[in-house]
Amino acid sequence: MNYDTMFQAALDELHRDGSYRYFAELERYSGRFPRAFHHGIGRDVTVWCSNDYLGMGQHPDVLAAVHKALDENGAGSGGTRNISGTNHYHVALEKELAALHGKESALLFNSGYLSNWVALGTLAARLKGCVVLSDALNHASMIEGIRHSRAEKRIFRHNDLDDLERHLKELPADTPKIIAFESVYSMDGDIAPIEEICDLADRYGAMTYLDEVHAVGMYGAQGGGIAQERGLEHRLTVIEGTLGKAYGVVGGYIAASTALCDFVRSFGSGFIFSTSLPPMVAAGVLASVRHLRQSSAERDGQKKAVALLRERLDRAHIPYLKTDTHIVPVMVRDATLCRTLSDELLKRFGHYLQPINYPTVPQGEERFRLTPGPLHTEEELDSLVEALSTLWKEHQLPLAA
Ligand code: PMP
Repeated sequence: MNYDTMFQAALDELHRDGSYRYFAELERYSGRFPRAFHHGIGRDVTVWCSNDYLGMGQHPDVLAAVHKALDENGAGSGGTRNISGTNHYHVALEKELAALHGKESALLFNSGYLSNWVALGTLAARLKGCVVLSDALNHASMIEGIRHSRAEKRIFRHNDLDDLERHLKELPADTPKIIAFESVYSMDGDIAPIEEICDLADRYGAMTYLDEVHAVGMYGAQGGGIAQERGLEHRLTVIEGTLGKAYGVVGGYIAASTALCDFVRSFGSGFIFSTSLPPMVAAGVLASVRHLRQSSAERDGQKKAVALLRERLDRAHIPYLKTDTHIVPVMVRDATLCRTLSDELLKRFGHYLQPINYPTVPQGEERFRLTPGPLHTEEELDSLVEALSTLWKEHQLPLAA
């Protein structure tokens, strides 16, 4: 049996349907984000598709905290949380995240993906007879967590309250239920009707599990996400977030009641048996969360950049989805073209925008997902829109009205 031939056959299929993923090798310069060195073309570029939405990955407070913890505690945590791998930074960070969301407790994971996979998977698997109601556009980490739990799953149409209620009505009152959904959906930049979903959850006795990965740090007076902005945190059973996007480092967490966090801590295999985050990471994140709780400057700068970009795109008649969030999807609606434009933007104009193709978005919905931030300058915004305009003309692409 030649296993490599089998692997290659599967990879060839990805190449054939255009979904094989290539990495761009990029050197982010500390202190100069969103500029980065692109190894593929051998020069500096401006990055427009980073999830370090606020540039916190290079914030002086974060860097100082990482350096200090590295010097004090060394590079790694030395073990799982249970076996010698809990440091005071982990404890302080969990307290900070619980306070941020107005919850009793929080639990750290090594990534947002793992927090969904482990927390949702553990809740669904360990609550006898649990049914999960999952939004059709939920992230892979939730889908895989639910699948792994082997619990019954009902998929409701994206943000569709009637469809969600139809499913809830069909389930017996004494069946444990979890409604799993996101606040900001990352590809279309739309927002869930959180309050109405909580109303349905109350009416039908369901728990609510909200992924705020694209919203924490970004929305709410202290960066607690959309639930905080709308004063709904107390109505959600679980708020899940990442520490790798607006907070600029890495890691994930859930915030919930002490009993729920202890339940996941005690039964979640992916939590129990995995080496914890290095103390320096926890320390860096702690500085980032604390900073964004008391400073709105980064969020304000980011909103300004989004407004400016939209205004420039409008003026140039470049088609994009109008959203209430920081995500600006510029629509190309053709996979090959999306790749060609991305290539030209990079090589001719020095702008790095990763094409978003199927299966991340449906076929015919190919796009660039732009996330302008407080560190993008007006000159960079102008230069990007000029480049897009030139390419739109050269390729005779349809303009927006
Ligand atoms: N949830 C959503 C909605 C996401 O988009 C992502 C990451 N792209 C994750 C969870 C996983 O978070 P992380 O990158 O921290 O693993």
